[in-house]
Amino acid sequence: MTRQRIAAGNWKLHTTVTEGCDLTKAIVQGWQGANAKVIVGPPFTHLAEVVEICSGSSVQVAAQNCFYKNEGAYTGEVSPRILTQLGVQYVILGHSERRQYFNESNSDILQKLHAALGEGMQPILCCGEPLEIRERSTHEAHVRRQLEESVFQLPEKDFGRIVVAYEPIWAIGTGKTATPEQAQEMHAYIRNLIRQNLGEGTANDTSILYGGSVKPANAADLFAQADVDGGLIGGASLKAESFLEIANTLNSI
Ligand code: PEP
Repeated sequence: MTRQRIAAGNWKLHTTVTEGCDLTKAIVQGWQGANAKVIVGPPFTHLAEVVEICSGSSVQVAAQNCFYKNEGAYTGEVSPRILTQLGVQYVILGHSERRQYFNESNSDILQKLHAALGEGMQPILCCGEPLEIRERSTHEAHVRRQLEESVFQLPEKDFGRIVVAYEPIWAIGTGKTATPEQAQEMHAYIRNLIRQNLGEGTANDTSILYGGSVKPANAADLFAQADVDGGLIGGASLKAESFLEIANTLNSI
């Protein structure tokens, strides 16, 4: 897969099915860009209808999580196979909220990566440091470990379907955004790690998204950075107008 510009919305636990369908319709109707990919990430319950609304458009759909097995006695879980049968192409894995509230470890995330890739999905793998790690200036080592214990365990051919999202936790949902320079520094660092682990071609082909309070007002400066290929957007993806404005910024760079 070649490097792409991507605006991916993570709706988290927001919207009812009806509201989510209305939001998807507004995004599908409003999106006309050809130079960037738009992905919506609703809760599981919305997926079948959201996929239906997106069919025939260029808007793609992501699940916010998946389990690492395709079937069995795992009450409450949703498998990659169920998702692909619905037509869901992308899955967000390792989001900091899953790590924090559901104790997901790097090895859990690696198992989920294997399961999702095994069903032909494209994972959006999240990494990023909490505030205390940033304040101690050990954020590079923290992110390196997250990647080494998860995606860097994958063979090079599988990595071709991975999108990486760098999301400093102190910037998620806080209104505090990393400066464009801070984002670029970490994106370049991550791309260099990919280069060291998987070679120049994979490093150049991997899309690395920034996540953390991306809004229409700061999107252009963040997306202008050489190693920032787009955004994973939470709050601002819940309104079609702001999400489309961010996606259009990316489309016109
Ligand atoms: C996210 O949910 O991944 C995120 C970056 O949220 P927000 O844009 O609201 O900070």
